[in-house]
Amino acid sequence: RTVYLNGQYLPENEASVSIFDRGFLMADGVYEVTSVLGGKLIDFDGHAVRLQRSLDALDIRNPISVADLLEVHRELVRLNEIDEGMIYLQITRGAPGDRDFVFPDPETTEPTIVLFTQAKPGLADSPAAKIGMKVISIEDIRWGRRDIKTVQLLYPSMGKMMAKKAGADDAWMIEDGFVTEGTSNNAYIVKGNKIITRALSNDILHGITRAAVLRFAQEAQMEVEERNFTIEEAKAADEAFVTSASTFVMPVVEIDGVALGAGVPGRVAPRLREIYLEESLKTAV
Ligand code: PMP
Repeated sequence: RTVYLNGQYLPENEASVSIFDRGFLMADGVYEVTSVLGGKLIDFDGHAVRLQRSLDALDIRNPISVADLLEVHRELVRLNEIDEGMIYLQITRGAPGDRDFVFPDPETTEPTIVLFTQAKPGLADSPAAKIGMKVISIEDIRWGRRDIKTVQLLYPSMGKMMAKKAGADDAWMIEDGFVTEGTSNNAYIVKGNKIITRALSNDILHGITRAAVLRFAQEAQMEVEERNFTIEEAKAADEAFVTSASTFVMPVVEIDGVALGAGVPGRVAPRLREIYLEESLKTAV
């Protein structure tokens, strides 16, 4: 594979970063994942806007313009012949010559920017979406700025392992009795014709897929309610699902061993997935 590192396209085994990079030493960096369908980028603008927001929140200088960033995405899709898959982008504060908690002078330390691709054939026509996912609930012990998309992913990764050990696919995190989000996705329940999901705040990532799905749901005359919900309410819901750039809309059929409805994907989540795939392709670039 060809990857992009600080202005250069390189074979992946020739791309390397300093051991003093603050991304490596301190998780001092942010990322984005953009999906590719039919060789085109889904929701590129949304990801570019959120990237800037994350960088601003951490006072990291953006080393690339939106136009150039789009060009790099497209060039990697072309070079690696990606039809369906993902593009991973990471920007860290860079590599000062030493380790220090104090941020380095931005005049002398260049941010590090890396992009690489992951081919995922069958991403849209996913067998998993037809079966649905099983989730467990775990305590949300992450930091208080989950709206910033940092590379500090150890707890979500541990949560995913707890789910795997319990025979499930993913974990929903709970804080003060209410579901925040999944380890790498936003969480929803469906009651009747109503889609319920936690409102935006610093407690969750402002999903790019979430914004699009809620917009499409409203355009399709579905009712959307942005409010907190408990795991008990979720277990008693008609349906549940998650959204993310890499899974689009994915039905959840079991929570902590309790089957939702008939234990198979319901009516709303598969329909939303269909609408999302169709609508988001119209604005793909
Ligand atoms: N919440 C968390 C914690 C995530 O990691 C992600 C995906 N990175 C999401 C939500 C979904 O965001 P998006 O739709 O922008 O991929």
